[in-house]
Amino acid sequence: MNVLVINCGSSSLKFQLINAKSEEVLAKGICERIGIDGRLTYQPEGGEKEKSEKAMPTHTEAIQFVIEALTNPETGVVNSLDEIGAVGHRMVHGGEKFASSVVITDEVKKAVEECNDLAPLHNPANLIGVAACENLMPNTPMVAVFDTAFHQTMPPKAYMYGLPYEYYEKYKVRRYGFHGTSHSFVSKRAAELLGKAYDETKTIVCHLGNGSSVTAVLNGKSVDTSMGLTPLEGLVMGTRCGDIDPAIMEFLAHKLDVDGVMKILNKDSGVYGLSGGLSSDFRDLTDASLAGDKKAQIAMEVFSYRVAKYIGAYVAVMNGVDDIVFTAGIGENDDIVREQVCSYLGYLGIEFNTELNKGLRGKETELSMPGSKVKVFVIPTNEELAIARETLELVRK
Ligand code: AMP
Repeated sequence: MNVLVINCGSSSLKFQLINAKSEEVLAKGICERIGIDGRLTYQPEGGEKEKSEKAMPTHTEAIQFVIEALTNPETGVVNSLDEIGAVGHRMVHGGEKFASSVVITDEVKKAVEECNDLAPLHNPANLIGVAACENLMPNTPMVAVFDTAFHQTMPPKAYMYGLPYEYYEKYKVRRYGFHGTSHSFVSKRAAELLGKAYDETKTIVCHLGNGSSVTAVLNGKSVDTSMGLTPLEGLVMGTRCGDIDPAIMEFLAHKLDVDGVMKILNKDSGVYGLSGGLSSDFRDLTDASLAGDKKAQIAMEVFSYRVAKYIGAYVAVMNGVDDIVFTAGIGENDDIVREQVCSYLGYLGIEFNTELNKGLRGKETELSMPGSKVKVFVIPTNEELAIARETLELVRK
């Protein structure tokens, strides 16, 4: 069966068509500037990337163009829509309602809508993607895979904030965590590399990308994670501030309005802000650091230091750790960050293979020495494949 994986944003729609049996990506691409003008980028497996300008007033036209591209007699990869057996939708926020993926029904859509408050930018866009697919493929089963679901196993002591209880009861203000599909995918693979049963492992996953989070996975379950009610909490990220003294909000609010403060915390902070606005991209920061730029050096050090602090906290939470995994854009590619983070972890008995780490990019690798008490892995994440697997499993059931 072929599964169409959709990741819908407010003005974009990323897609991959995956053969769920062979797990081969048949084609992938993105629709951008939906509601503005419209641009489709499409690439069939082994073929050239094609870019075309297309009028996309809504997501329905975008999906229509995706289907046309996938079924195009020359560059398409399937003959008709009938060859798409199911659609898997990435959903950002499932609140407390979804602890796992589900087949999409009217009740599911209503429950997702009820979580809109918690992710006002993402959930409505995800639902628009579902509606657009339903319009064009009314008989194709669809599955929702939530970023938050994997973390629903966190105990109250990890997810409650030190706020009046009534805000949890009334408004569901609590920690949820994100990147769950990635943390789940990578921690499962880590158990295979360790040669242990998934429900007998203590793994810390560092998903370090534009958005970054660390998760403690104990016996196959997320028991704590660094993001909270929103993806702003936790690590210092590309442009997000991560953990800060909440009183900074008030301090800044005397100088700016609330929207201005939130823009600073979400878009102008993180390594971008720390580097004096140089870049949120670690390739630029690395180049600048090596050229002696002090702010870029500090930005990278702050980033790695915060990751190391979370690892230390999660070793305590799990009373030990078997392995630490680096994944996502920075985790998979940035050898300097990996070395900086691991330089704090000698006390765990980690023997880090500095030579092997140097220049290693995007390849599954064990970075610890054979005798190391705790293993260190680089494991590339693949959220689309994880969504396709979940979709296939649910549709088969
Ligand atoms: P992601 O959100 O997982 O796609 O990660 C994107 C981020 O990964 C970029 O903003 C970069 O900071 C980082 N990244 C990607 N490639 C490299 C690389 N070759 N070296 C260092 N950092 C990289």
